[in-house]
Amino acid sequence: MKKEKATVAGTLAVLCLLTSVVFLGSFSVREPEHEPDLPRADVEAWEVPESSATPELTPELTAEEPADREQEETGQPVMATAHFAMEEYRCDCDGYCSGWPCAMNPALLDKIEDLRGVFGQPVIITSGVRCEARNAEVGGVAWSFHMRGCAADLYCPGVAVGELAGAAKDVGLNVLPYYAHGYIHVEI
Ligand SMILES: [Zn+2]
Ligand SMILES: [Zn+2]
Repeated sequence: MKKEKATVAGTLAVLCLLTSVVFLGSFSVREPEHEPDLPRADVEAWEVPESSATPELTPELTAEEPADREQEETGQPVMATAHFAMEEYRCDCDGYCSGWPCAMNPALLDKIEDLRGVFGQPVIITSGVRCEARNAEVGGVAWSFHMRGCAADLYCPGVAVGELAGAAKDVGLNVLPYYAHGYIHVEI
């Protein structure tokens, strides 16, 4: 019985020892974890005054950006070419599309700008890019170049359709004149 008690006491002692080791161990594990945190926090605290010297620079930079953006948003529209805003070529449907089922072909835009240069006066775009629904609505052919951003309908006030068509051909556009309606269809 004594032996048994002794072994029980021994086991208890071992258990106590183990627990304290684990307990201490958990302490010793936590401490190194905690220690690096402190210096890090100190470093951060140190770096703050250093970086607070830069705010003099950043407000200047950020103050310029919104001003530029405002100019783009409120002032000048996005230009397709020198005399034409991109909006003039937008699909004019009643919400069938976002307005841009595809982008306008830049070569077409350049040639229309050239055409405007021939007369030196405003050229009005009556139709630029078209979504399928809008194309069907206006009776456009199924293979219409308008749906690919490669065609536009336009007229030039004061310039006869025949004269405008001739000039459009000269700048390298394929032309379909609509004499009765007073405009030409150009495509590339
Ligand atoms: Zn549309
Ligand atoms: Zn057309």
